[in-house]
Amino acid sequence: MTNYSIGVDLGGTNLRIAAVTDIGDLLEKITLGTKVSLGRNHVINDMCDAIRGLGEKYKQTAVLSGIGIGVPGIIDLKTGMLRESPNLPGWADYPVRDEIERRLATRVILDNDANVAALGEKWLGAAKEVDDVAMLTLGTGVGGGLVLGGRIWHGMTGMAGEFGHITVEPEGVQCNCGNRGCVEQYASASAVVRMARESIAGGTSSLLGRAANSDPEFSAKAVYNLAIQGDEEAQKIFRRAGRALGIVVADLINSLNIPMYVIGGGVSSAWDAFSPAMFEEIRRRSMVYAATAPPKTAGEHGASLQVSPQGQTVTIVTRALLGSDAGLYGAARLPLLA
Ligand SMILES: [Zn+2]
Repeated sequence: MTNYSIGVDLGGTNLRIAAVTDIGDLLEKITLGTKVSLGRNHVINDMCDAIRGLGEKYKQTAVLSGIGIGVPGIIDLKTGMLRESPNLPGWADYPVRDEIERRLATRVILDNDANVAALGEKWLGAAKEVDDVAMLTLGTGVGGGLVLGGRIWHGMTGMAGEFGHITVEPEGVQCNCGNRGCVEQYASASAVVRMARESIAGGTSSLLGRAANSDPEFSAKAVYNLAIQGDEEAQKIFRRAGRALGIVVADLINSLNIPMYVIGGGVSSAWDAFSPAMFEEIRRRSMVYAATAPPKTAGEHGASLQVSPQGQTVTIVTRALLGSDAGLYGAARLPLLA
């Protein structure tokens, strides 16, 4: 019989549950909305129902290895409490792990969503061929995850890898974390929209202004579309994001000297718009990168350079491969490492 595990990606918008075999084959994926407004009890019920449903369905043909759940926010790994979660209002200081274990009458493993995404890319995505990888997930905020020796590096209390709150502007924009000038304030989807609105308010771009006025849900994607159509202001915003990212990646390369740094999350689809500025900044700021960069090829600006040239010790900075499934696969991987 096949072994499989169940992975859950509990996001502020989507709740996704998947059954994945221990070699990474997807058996089934369920996507539900996260009904945050109905309260945590409702969301956990939806999750547990879906997990039980999958368990029932595969119990004749496969053996369940365990259940892993990626949760947005700061988790106390010892107690399984969610300390703080901007995307899940009302869940702070809630014993989420105990509650799920009680309902399912089995053990579950929780981890931070960005950590889990890094683990997913390590298992089945861009970082498959390396043991150590750092990942930045550019979404509403900027998440970070560090995988060393194939396992998530948790640090002392599970809070390691908060790369989104590395300072790139000492007196910069106020961040929700209390600091100023975090990379999250320059390279997240919300930052891209904020910078676009600032540019409109400054009266410099009529194109951006028209796009924002005609689209009530004006998004980072709209800014990207303008950038690829040649709008200078929109391009400037992504260069700003790229520089901020480059500073952080250069710091990570200098600190860690590991072989791979992966950029994922929704905003990473704007790779063409931000990566030239990012690489310029990395080259300028990291002597470790200068000493270990792969031979300069066209691949540096695209997604083609995924694997280091055979036998060479090089530093690769690249796009994530699994898209929004990274967190789902990473969550399914958690019980296999426990
Ligand atoms: Zn911050």
